[in-house]
This record gives sequence, structure tokens and C-alpha cells, in this order.
Amino acid sequence: MQRRGIWIDTHAHLDASELTSFVHPDLQLETQGAVEFINKFAINNIAICVIPAVEKSNFNTVRALAQSHGQAYAIGIHPLYVPQARQDDLQVLDEQLRQHKDDPRLVAVGEIGLDFFLPTLCSPDIRAKQTEFYRTQLKLAAKHRLPVILHVRKSADELLHGLREIKVPGGIAHAFNGSMQQALQFVQLGFKLGFGGAVTYERALNLRTLSAQLPASAIVMETDSPDIPPHWLYTLAEDRALGKPQGVNTPLELPRIAETVAALRGLHPLDWADQTTANACAALPKLSALLV
Ligand SMILES: [Zn+2]
Repeated sequence: MQRRGIWIDTHAHLDASELTSFVHPDLQLETQGAVEFINKFAINNIAICVIPAVEKSNFNTVRALAQSHGQAYAIGIHPLYVPQARQDDLQVLDEQLRQHKDDPRLVAVGEIGLDFFLPTLCSPDIRAKQTEFYRTQLKLAAKHRLPVILHVRKSADELLHGLREIKVPGGIAHAFNGSMQQALQFVQLGFKLGFGGAVTYERALNLRTLSAQLPASAIVMETDSPDIPPHWLYTLAEDRALGKPQGVNTPLELPRIAETVAALRGLHPLDWADQTTANACAALPKLSALLV
């Protein structure tokens, strides 16, 4: 590791509309807000963010953002976007993975996975379509030799089943909230587990136990911004009704979120930064070259 005490945000949707006041929608680095925002990353020891795509229409957006702002990105079709996705989208993904294979900032296929939590995604035909898109994208990751970034929601066993049949070069199970046994099965398959703002809530007992007890080499840190705000940004419904806005979750929250996990593990934040940065580079190997 080149520098001590730097963090990698392994999951940040910097192109999300909630963040456009920070990152200008026309992606021009010259806009003052974007420059100021990205400058704050370095001041806060955030070396790099991974920006996952969610559907075909934002593949080019996340690439342009990563390239113009010195970040990393992944392309893939997110399970929430599978209902409206077309078969052709998978061909576009295959083509873009081939076309951009030498782009050092393209570090993974993602965000892909399965969501069996949202009722609208659980009808038999949508479940089948989700599974088909997941498996096809695993095959594309294997073909293009890239790790994957997985969305896991009430779907850990089904995801593991796919990973046992279609061998990919590891990756990250992001926003993981399954059992210890499932976590260790992901680890056995060469995966890291991503933890973010949810771990900052005292009532998140399962997450806190997992993040304290998993092997240190198994964990990467993420904000999932703008989703999953840490507790200090969360505004109760009654306060929102009175006009107090929800705080915006950005990669700048990462050190404080990660310090929560360091404290649960009884570690110094500097050591946890070094450990999780090494873990992120092990999961997404192309990141290493971007840190130099
Ligand atoms: Zn995501």
C-alpha cells in the first residue's frame, strides 16, 4: 500500500439525481460544485469511489463521471431495472465490456444480482427474468475476466447457487445482511462483503455482529450513496413532516462509517483503513493501479 490511512468507497452511485447538486449533470469537471466536492475526497482521505451502473442508459454516464473525476466504475444491469430491461441490453453490455476492456477505470461488472424482497420483483415471471439476467451477466464477467458487484436482498442462497455454477473472478456482495454462514460461503468463493451506513444504527444487531466477527480480510467499506444514510444523517418521519430534510449521504461519510466498524472490532481507524483498502484492491484488482 502506497499511503497509510486512505479509504476506498466501493459503492457510490455518484450519478444519482440526489447528488446532482454536487456532481453536475453535464459531467463538466469545471463546474465549481463538482470540483469542490471531489476536492473534499482527498481532504477526507478518500482515495477513490467505485461508481456502479444500474441500467444500459447510464453505462456512459458512470464511465464519463469516473474518467472526468478520477474515479472507478462498473457496468451492469441492477435487478431493480431488470423488469424494464430488454434482451438487447445484455448484448450492449457484452459489447461495451469488450470495447472498454483496456480502460483502467472499468473495474467490475455491476451492479448485478437478485432482489427477492420487493414484492413487485417477486412474481414468478420477474423472478425468472431476474435469474436469467443474473446468470447471463455472471457469464459475461467470466468471459471478460472481471469481478462482479452483487446486490443481495433476500437472495443470498440463490446468488451463491449461481456463483457455484458460473465461476467468476470474485467480487463484492454489497450491502450484505445475511447470516454468518452465508457470509462465509461468499468468502469461500473469493468474495468480500460490503458494509455501509446501516451498520451505524445500534439496533442493527446482525450487521454489527457480522462486521465485528468476520475475518478482517473479508470486509470492504461502502456508502451506497445516496442510499442507506448513516444514523447521523437520518431524519425521523415526524421531523421530515416539520420540514427538516433528510441528510444527503455522500462518499464523504465513509471514514465515519468505517470508524464505527473499527470501534466494533477494537481497531485503530488507520489500521482499518489500510486493511479495507487492501481488501478492496484484492476484490477489484484494477483499483490498485489507480491508487498510485
Ligand atoms: Zn447500489
